[in-house]
Parts: sequence; structure tokens; C-alpha cells
Amino acid sequence: MNDCFLRLIPVRGKNMRYADIVLPVPLPKLFTYEVPNEYHGTLAAGQRVVVSFGKKKLLSGIIFSLHNNKPEAYETKPIISILDDKPIVTLSQLKVWEWMADYYQCTLGEVYKAALPSGLKLESETRIFYNDEFEAETEMPEKTQQILDFLAAKKYSTISEINQFSGLKSCHHIIKQLIELDAVVVNEQLKGSWRPKTEVFLSLHNNVRNENSLRDAFDSLSRAPKQLEVLMLFLQSTGGVSEAMTGKEVLKKELASKAVNSSTAINELIKKEMLVQVKRNVDRLLTSKIENVQKVKTLSPEQDSALQETLKGFDENLPVLLHGVTSSGKTEIYIHLIDQAIKKGQQALYLLPEIALTTQITNRLKAHFGEKLGIYHSKFSDDQRVEVYNNLLNNKSYRVILGVRSSVFLPFSNLGLIIIDEEHENSFKQFDPAPRYHARDVALVLGQGFKSSVLLGTATPSIESYYNVQNNKYRLVELTTRFEGMMMPEIIVVNTREAQRKKMMQSHFSPQLLEHISEALSNKQQVILFQNRRGFAPFMECMSCGWIPKCKHCDVSLTYHKHIHQLICHYCGYSSNVHATCQACESPTLNLKGFGTQKIEEEIGQIFPDASIARMDYDTTRSRKGYENIISGFEQGEYNILVGTQMVTKGLDFDRVSLVGILNADQMLNHPDFRAFEKSFQMMAQVSGRAGRKHKRGTVIIQTSDPEHPVIAKVRSNNYAAFYQEQIEEREQFNYPPFYRIIHLTIKHKNQNVTNQAANYLAGLLRSVFGSRILGPQVPPVNRIQDHHLQRIMIKYERKASPSQVKKLIRDCINQTLANERWKYVQIVNDVDPL
Ligand code: ADP
Ligand code: ZN
Ligand code: ZN
Repeated sequence: MNDCFLRLIPVRGKNMRYADIVLPVPLPKLFTYEVPNEYHGTLAAGQRVVVSFGKKKLLSGIIFSLHNNKPEAYETKPIISILDDKPIVTLSQLKVWEWMADYYQCTLGEVYKAALPSGLKLESETRIFYNDEFEAETEMPEKTQQILDFLAAKKYSTISEINQFSGLKSCHHIIKQLIELDAVVVNEQLKGSWRPKTEVFLSLHNNVRNENSLRDAFDSLSRAPKQLEVLMLFLQSTGGVSEAMTGKEVLKKELASKAVNSSTAINELIKKEMLVQVKRNVDRLLTSKIENVQKVKTLSPEQDSALQETLKGFDENLPVLLHGVTSSGKTEIYIHLIDQAIKKGQQALYLLPEIALTTQITNRLKAHFGEKLGIYHSKFSDDQRVEVYNNLLNNKSYRVILGVRSSVFLPFSNLGLIIIDEEHENSFKQFDPAPRYHARDVALVLGQGFKSSVLLGTATPSIESYYNVQNNKYRLVELTTRFEGMMMPEIIVVNTREAQRKKMMQSHFSPQLLEHISEALSNKQQVILFQNRRGFAPFMECMSCGWIPKCKHCDVSLTYHKHIHQLICHYCGYSSNVHATCQACESPTLNLKGFGTQKIEEEIGQIFPDASIARMDYDTTRSRKGYENIISGFEQGEYNILVGTQMVTKGLDFDRVSLVGILNADQMLNHPDFRAFEKSFQMMAQVSGRAGRKHKRGTVIIQTSDPEHPVIAKVRSNNYAAFYQEQIEEREQFNYPPFYRIIHLTIKHKNQNVTNQAANYLAGLLRSVFGSRILGPQVPPVNRIQDHHLQRIMIKYERKASPSQVKKLIRDCINQTLANERWKYVQIVNDVDPL
């Protein structure tokens, strides 16, 4: 892997006359520019520069390397200006970029685009917004002032427009100064639903913060029962009268949600000076105040020996796979390791799937690491991401970064520890756009560069990682019991086929499941119902002729969204009104079909009308806030039942969940994909892990028409090793990963014939090189997206073959195809290690 780094020459070039520059264009190469005399000796790899590209365009790019080799093929143009005094991308980052471009077969420009927050990129179409609140402290140079006035008048403008207006060849350096002065902001910085939000908090008014006056207040409310009720609820929410007396705050809307029509009563209480309200900036992931930093928890003997084993693995320079059942205390072990790394003066990276990066985990880490913790989330506004980036680049306060996939791109300087939590998660892989990288695998490469200790943690290891254990590439550490003897849940398998035959199913619920739900509810405990979404989105169907409304641009049926009463395409976002009559036969018999979470929510609500139900799926969690609200609402007992998709399987810790119901295991198991069993096992085991609390064993009910299915048997006996053994044998027999590697090539064009011809031609070329390792072309499950017709070719090759050699041969075949005039506009997308 290291040989591809050789091109990188880390020189602050003394008299280097040429710079190779990464530009954000989809061409697979670096571009050489001339270093003007005045910059000799001042440039280094990782600095941003502005250059002209093509006839008129100006682009900002990153210096990749400096050298003295005059290109023979073309006349070089000079660098126009330099944006940074020192590099904003480190050499170790550039090395990872280069590895990624090579391994994932994309361009360095694509990696550059993915790696930097927008605020650091300044492309010519980047929109620059005037900041209304800006007040200049000192006089500005004339040109700067002109540009600022221009922006103030227009509110916003693009960099290329500003260039035109100012007559400057490049205004980048001025924009950069204005950004630093806070006079302007870059477009995406405004996008954030993640700017600090204000929320209203209530606390007890000073007037009533003693027992006598509080009693008087109660007396005075005797004729206002609603206000009395609300005041009582308020006191309850603070945790009691004495807590309330200390001024403890309660979120206004939370209080309002606890009683119907309570807003008027709350406002009356404020008028009467019994409650006071304050507005406060809150940031959902950063709310927790850290009064005193917590010490790490003392580990149990089992946890402690797992920690020692882990350290041994680190000493052998091996990544460690921590296979610990749910709630065994893996996170506590991570915290110990991070603590040790920080004490050694090192940085730590804690990677999590996006959906698992919740307030629960940030608060937990914040309590230990306080100001040293930085959080890097893709849903953060761009300026928050720039802040984290710069904090690390300048070695300021952050020592540990808790982040999602893209945090592998951050400028670490002394990364001693990498933790990849939930390492089996598919969402670590980026599907679109390029680079289509797997953050776990990139993290391992990052770790090699820094010689970091790497820990992969999970309750359900991926087959690939466990295989690496078997081959002594990773060291295995196990935690087999839950913390404090919490028991693993009891798993009951219900045969739905039999129940159906006996006509005992009530829509999607077996009598056993309903019985258990009813019992849990009467014991004031909570229930999670899991419905895997795949293929179950609700859609419309004509009962007379079978017509189904489909997307105009894609080959998929439209999904029905109840709250907006619209049909929406989940691939391209196209939306349409719900037709009153069938578009094919005009009969008015359009019915809602499907078995989505919405449907389950509705039905369970009819069966248990008194239960309060929340639903967690793609639709209800579109905003980060929606997601957090559902979690915290469920945590605080506002809901009795949570209906959800795989989102509910992600590392959440709920205290009162005694029952988990898996509504339909068959659908997961029958998915036509060689990973279907692996994913099914992981999902069932993970969602089962949500059941049970201290001192009380939880119950899991799995509904299936095939109770004897080997995967279900392994979930039931919690026997990962046996499950793995079966899987690995199958993978070997049918030439699947980890024994073989896979690459998908997707061929796209608006014209179906063109797509097909190009695909056939490319497949022919590939076959002449790789023979039977080529499968297809085949029409993928969804064969038209956004008006483009798709074909797919799969390349399956032996693990021992050299990946870089294979990829080079593939690239040659692709280039040869695209060189053909007829297929010039065909797109070929390369997905290495697809999931
Ligand atoms: P996992 O990450 O394996 O799912 P956690 O680390 O979240 O497990 O532990 C489950 C629960 O048990 C958490 O509430 C955690 O705080 C608690 N816990 C685990 N280990 C300890 C310990 N050594 N001391 C105190 N509490 C612990
Ligand atoms: Zn569509
Ligand atoms: Zn019809």
C-alpha cells in the first residue's frame, strides 16, 4: 500500500519552480503550475492556491507537491495567488487522500471535495453572503470596502461574480480576509439547522422560592385548576419542590406537552410571577454543562481483563477486535483507553455511525473529557465543522474527536488511538458521491500512518473482521456478560405461518406478541417494535387493474407519505399528488399497500388505544432534531411503544424497555444478497440488545414463518461463533468476500440502447482480461434513476491477486470504452468493495 505514496515529495521547496495541484475537477490527475519568482521558498504542500483553469475559470486548489520537472506536454501557467501562509492540509492527510484515490478509483479532486468543509474550499460558484451584523473596527483597503459594499447591496454573490465586479483576477484573498473578519459567510454556513437554537426554559420565580410563599401560591390557585395542575407538573419535572427551589430549569415546550391545552396556564403562571422564562442558546449535542469532570469508572474484573488484553494487542501492533455483548461495558473500556491516550499527550478518534452519534453518547464523553472533546457531525453547520478542523490543525483544545465517517479526513497530528465503534455498520461506507469509501478501512490506513492503536468494537462483528481474527491480523478480545450480571434477554420465536393457518394473526401481530405487549404496558414498561424497512414503504395500487404509480424519472414505485398526503420518489425526490382515480383504468379504487412502519404504528394504536406511540424511521428523523426528540421522549417515558426501522437497533440505551418485537424476520432473511444472513443476524441481535434492564430480564419475540431457520437459531442461542462458522464456509464455497474482492461498475446513460451497448462492450473487454471473474452486465434492482438507464458489471477476483494491478487493468478497459465516440457521454461509476 505504501508504494503509492512515493509520488509525494514533502518539500518546502527552496527553488522549486513547479507545483502539482489538486483541483476540484473530475479529471484523474494533478495539474502542474509554475511557481512565480516571488513565491520561491515560501510554498509547501497543503497550502491553498488560486489558479486559472481552462479559458476563464479560476479555481482554488491544494498544493500536492513541489518539484523542478517542467512538463513536456503543455505550457504551464503561473499560480495566481496563495491563500494560506501555512498548509491547511497536512502531509499525513495528503497521504490518505492519495491512498483513497488509488484504492477507491476516484480522483484526488473528488477526495479533496469530500475532505474539506465548504468554508475551506472557496470554489468559484461558492456563494458569499453579507453579514448584516458586521461592524468594521478599522478602516478597510479601498478594494475590500468596494467588494463589501457590493455584497451588502446584493446580500450575496458568487466568487466569479465578485471577480467580474471588482475587475480582479482573483478575489479569493480578499474574501478570505472578510471571512476572518466575520463580515461575510460562505453559503453552507447558513444552511445549518445546526446553528445554535434558542429554547425557552422555565424556572420557579424568586417570589415563590420558599415554602410559605409557595403554599400561598397554591392556595391562590384553588380556582384555577389548570394552572394548579401545570404548576404541579412543573414541580414534578424539576424533580421535586426542593430542586425547584434551587432554580432548576425545565424546557417550556416539554412542560407544555405534559398536559393538554397547558400553554395558556403556563403564561398565566408567568404573569402571576410564579414561573419565569428565559431564552437560551442550546446546541442539542452540546447542552450538557460540565460542572466537574468525572473520573473514569472502575472497571469490573471482566472488563479490566478485556482492557489488559486490548493493551497487549496494541503492544503487538495489531488492531484489536473487541467483541462484547450489548451492555457489556465496551464504551467504558473506550473511555479508559481515551483517557490513557490523552495522558500520554496523544489524540484519539472515536468513530461512530451517524445514527449512533446521539446526545446520550456525547453527554457521556463530555462528562469525562469536557473541553477536550470535539464533535464532528455531518449534520453540523459548516462553520461548526470548520471550527473543529481548525482547532485540530492549530493544535488547540481538542484531544479527542467523536465523529462520523468523514472525521477520518480531519488534520490529526499525533493520533495515538482510533476506536471504530459498531464496526459492522454498513453506514460507514459512503455510497454517493465518490469517494465511495469505507470509513473503517480508511481509519485502519490512517492508523498505520500514525502508528496508532486501533480498536474495533461491536456486539456482532462483520464477517470480514472476524476472518481477520482467524488469520491473526487482528487480536480478539471478548466480553461475554452484561455489566452487573444483567441477563441477556429471553428470546421467543413465534411461528406466524401456523398462527395464520389457525387464523390467529391480528393483522401483523401474533397472539403471543400482543399478550406480551399488553403485559409490558400494564407493568408500565416500554416496548420496541422493529420492522425492517427494506421494500416495505407504503405505496398505492389499483384494486381493479393492479396499476401502481411510479416515478417519472426512476424505475421505482412512489412511496406514500401520510402527513403531507403526497407520493414521493425515494431515489430522486420527485413528488406527485395522490390521484383520485387510477391512471390506467380510471376506476376510483386506489388502495394503500405495503407494510411500513406507519402502518404498524396505526394498527398498534388501534389495538392499544391508550398507549402513546412514537415512530422512528427515515421520515420522522429527517432532521437531527426529530431524531433526538424521539429518543429523549422515549427515554423520559413519554411514549409506551416505539415503532421503528433499523434505526432503533443502533446502540441506544433505554432503561425501561422490557419487550422487543421483531415483526417479520423472513423479509430480512430472504433478501437476495449474499450478506442477507449476516445483516439479519446483526439486526436481530442488536435490536434484542435493547431489551432488559438491571435486575430484570427482558423478552424478545421474533415473528417468522420459518422458526427452524439456522440464523434464527443462532440469534436465539446468542451463538456468534457458530453463526460465523456457517457463513464463512458459504462465503468460501461461493467465492464471496473475504475470500474474493468485489468491484461494481455501473454504466449510466439517458438512452437505454447506449447504456446497453456500452455495457456489453465494456464487459467484453473485461472478459478478455479477467475471464469468468466478470459477471453481467445485468440490470440492477433499480434500473433507471433520474432519467438515466443503468447496467451493472460485477468483477469478483481472488484476494491474493494484486488489487492495484486489477484496478489498473479495469481502468484501461474503461478508458478504452469511453474513448469510443458513441459512448463519450456515458458515465461509469466505480464502486470498490460495495456493500
Ligand atoms: P456497551 O458499550 O457494551 O453497550 P456500556 O458501556 O454502554 O456497554 O455499558 C452499559 C451500561 O452499564 C452503561 O449505563 C454503563 O454506564 C454501565 N457500566 C458499564 N460498565 C460500568 C462500570 N465499570 N462501572 C459503572 N457502570 C458501568
Ligand atoms: Zn425518481
Ligand atoms: Zn386501474
